[in-house]
Amino acid sequence: MAKVIIIGGGAAGMIAAYSAALTSKQVILLEKNEKLGKKIFITGKGRCNLTNASNMNTVMENVVSNKRFLFSAFKNFTNEDIMRLVEENGTKLKIERGNRVFPVSDHSSDIIKSLENALRALNVDIRLNTKVDSLLIENDICKGVIIGKNKIMADAVIVATGGMSYQATGSDGDGYRFAKEAGLSVSKLYPSLVPFNIEGDRIKALQGLSLKNVNVYIYNDKKLVYDEFGEMLFTHFGVSGPVIISASAIIGNKNIKGYRLCIDLKPALDEEKLDERILRDFTEQKNKSLKNSLNKLFPAKLIDEVIYQSKIDPEKKVNLLTKEERQRLVHATKNLEYVISSTRGFNEAIITKGGVEVSQINPKTMESKKIKGLFFAGEVLDLDAFTGGYNLQIAWSTGYAAGEGAGE
Ligand SMILES: Cc1cc2nc3c(=O)[nH]c(=O)nc-3n(C[C@H](O)[C@H](O)[C@H](O)COP(=O)(O)OP(=O)(O)OC[C@H]3O[C@@H](n4cnc5c(N)ncnc54)[C@H](O)[C@@H]3O)c2cc1C
Repeated sequence: MAKVIIIGGGAAGMIAAYSAALTSKQVILLEKNEKLGKKIFITGKGRCNLTNASNMNTVMENVVSNKRFLFSAFKNFTNEDIMRLVEENGTKLKIERGNRVFPVSDHSSDIIKSLENALRALNVDIRLNTKVDSLLIENDICKGVIIGKNKIMADAVIVATGGMSYQATGSDGDGYRFAKEAGLSVSKLYPSLVPFNIEGDRIKALQGLSLKNVNVYIYNDKKLVYDEFGEMLFTHFGVSGPVIISASAIIGNKNIKGYRLCIDLKPALDEEKLDERILRDFTEQKNKSLKNSLNKLFPAKLIDEVIYQSKIDPEKKVNLLTKEERQRLVHATKNLEYVISSTRGFNEAIITKGGVEVSQINPKTMESKKIKGLFFAGEVLDLDAFTGGYNLQIAWSTGYAAGEGAGE
């Protein structure tokens, strides 16, 4: 029957408050914004992909950092549990491509409303516009929180302050500071699930071009570090889209300046077949210049770029092209190459990679092994996953475990 304080009314904090309130009479949820769930509101492009309906083994496979830490929390509060809770509190759900779960209404605000309903039914004391300044810790025991000149005492405090991305939603890194002040280690923070900047200006001409069914390879010098088939997008600064965003989850914490991005524009054709295809196109358009003969093969915006990377005169008539030049064209089509300069920043990142090191946290209860009564949940922990509803599932499962642990 502990008195529990939760700092942060996002995904993890709301679920933590819910599960704490199942056993504890006095649960206080402190949120610095004027409303709960500001980040949930912008998830899934405003539709909230709240979890993934695949079996929990698949959910686990889509976690990138520290997946083993999540074993117990995932087992204790699953994707089905969050779906049931949300539906019981008024929001019907649907499952889309890739087992992504969304509200039938396509409104993330409905998910927030359902969670608020669940909290109000359990009489959680929700205090908005309340920013916690620091934790109150004495003799390695967390005794409450400090807000300005005031103290609120508690038997347990859950830090669910989120990561560093999209700071306008409220998550601006306070939780990392709280952890450090409590003597805990925080691993280096990186923007993740984020686009890449590309060196040079040529990329600007491709802005807005979206490519489907391409294979993306990323090399560190000669070493292949990423290989994925799917969809990508050119922007005014570089590249984005699903395969690029996923790449950032894997290599975004490396020093990627100078890594090479190679795009295979025709992965279904090997070099020989592609050459045959190009020859066929050229035979049909003998007297045309190269730049006017590739419109069947590439979108208009790409033609100049592929020719540029093939190092062929765009005005050259196709019937005058040498075999060697054609080979260069084939090579550029299968290896359109760019140099990555960096990832974009936290303000464009879906999540933060890094955080409170999980080796210091009990994976069953989310309690700090060092400071009694201090719990962590959600993105503030060093946990992250691919897109598809997995990051919110991390918040739900760790939040539930922390609430349960603190409530006891
Ligand atoms: C654009 C975008 C789209 C996304 N889409 C999806 C998606 O569709 N599916 C998915 O699974 N994941 C998605 N994510 C990731 C997902 O939103 C996060 O992983 C998740 O919200 C993390 O939950 P959290 O509770 O840990 O943190 P948050 O949801 O960020 O909540 C933290 C809360 O703590 C509050 N807070 C911070 N400091 C203090 C303080 N000192 N005092 C009081 N309160 C404080 C903040 O105001 C905030 O409300 C998306 C993220 C972004 C940015």
